[in-house]
Amino acid sequence: MFENLSDRLSGVFDRLTKQGALSEDDVKTALREVRVALLEADVSLPVARNFVKAVQDKATGQAVTKSVTPGQQVVKIVHDELVNVLSGEGEPGALKIDNAPAPILMVGLQGSGKTTTTAKLAKRLKDTQNKRILMASLDTNRPAAMEQLAILGQQIGVDTLPIVKGEDPVTIARRAKTQASLGGYDVYMLDTAGRLHIDEELIAQAAAVRDAVSPRETLLVVDGLTGQDAVNVAEEFDGKIGVSGVVLTRMDGDGRGGAALSMRAVTGKPIKFVGLGEKMDAIEEFHPERIAGRILGMGDIVSLVEKAQQTLEAEQAERMMKRMSKGQFNMNDLRMQLEQMMKMGGMEGLMGMMPGMGKMQKQMTEAGFDDSIIRRQIALINSMTKKERANPQVLQASRKKRIAAGAGLEVSELNKLLKMHRQMGDMMKKLGKKGGRGMLKQAMG
Ligand code: GDP
Repeated sequence: MFENLSDRLSGVFDRLTKQGALSEDDVKTALREVRVALLEADVSLPVARNFVKAVQDKATGQAVTKSVTPGQQVVKIVHDELVNVLSGEGEPGALKIDNAPAPILMVGLQGSGKTTTTAKLAKRLKDTQNKRILMASLDTNRPAAMEQLAILGQQIGVDTLPIVKGEDPVTIARRAKTQASLGGYDVYMLDTAGRLHIDEELIAQAAAVRDAVSPRETLLVVDGLTGQDAVNVAEEFDGKIGVSGVVLTRMDGDGRGGAALSMRAVTGKPIKFVGLGEKMDAIEEFHPERIAGRILGMGDIVSLVEKAQQTLEAEQAERMMKRMSKGQFNMNDLRMQLEQMMKMGGMEGLMGMMPGMGKMQKQMTEAGFDDSIIRRQIALINSMTKKERANPQVLQASRKKRIAAGAGLEVSELNKLLKMHRQMGDMMKKLGKKGGRGMLKQAMG
């Protein structure tokens, strides 16, 4: 799975990480290649575009650590963005199966691997969670499909609902429900009929079954080899009957895997499992971290950069503490704090984390204070020279004009920033006097 994409990307990043210094052009070229690699892996165009843009934005705003190269940092950013694009809410692979008997509805096109996946999941639930499962085939058009499920059931030791000729899908579903209740099953899985294409009858049938049993999970099985088509099919199924998660099959196949990268971004639905072969054990939970690691194949670099970043932040914080307790709070410190705020999800994220801050957040939003202000403040600080940042008291009118212009902002905005910085400095001095460093540390968290 993902071999081609993985090869392409490691080519790009091998070159990048070998270089010591990186110019903006180096990064641009690399990202262009990343984009092409994604498109070749059949990732949808908007997803590929957003991906590269997100990486570019983050790469430009990065603090540089001496212990890793810029190329290594880019790898880490790409890794994080891969995880981001692959992630859904909740535990990977977790299924809602409390309140026995829990119905799971399996939907998908014919040949997608729906019946095989039904049996694989049943086996998994039985083996890993010790659940009692009942499977039922609703594919009344294809007696062979019903037989197939019964055979798989025997093979894996999972019960199937006896086949009664002439019943319609809704009747079979109801019978499965009754049987599951009476028989003390934890879960009953309904393998609906597939078609070669999505048509009205197929959808109407799946919807009727859905309404009859109110499934806890509706899992859509799609063939991962079909790339963008898999994503389109998922969008359509979700729009028409609503799905709770996706299983991508045949991910043992040709290694493009673009469907996996586009699925979440395009449909908003999480991939819960991937099928990796014909055998009954060839299914895996979908872990974004692991998949991203597999695609990039650069786990060492990722953890190296993580460690370096942690060290850098700890050192910076320590140095800032020292300076602040001596009443030296300069623009570099302020920038670091602002950046920290953005990292924690900006104003909203920060306020959301503190109990009782909802109201204050609303007031601040009403007063026009939002993340864009923080971003503008950071831009103003970036526009200062090193000397000015270390010693903002020296700023005269002409310099102020230059700084504001450099950030594309008004001098009045710079004045507000300087005032805020002064006030914070005063407050810290007071704190420093009152309780010494201990108290300051407390106040700063
Ligand atoms: P259905 O028509 O959607 O029920 O599809 P089936 O479950 O009958 O599967 C069709 C074919 O695909 C069978 O030969 C399966 O063994 C095969 N298949 C299903 N899942 C996978 C998978 O993850 N990898 C591979 N290589 N083959 C699979």
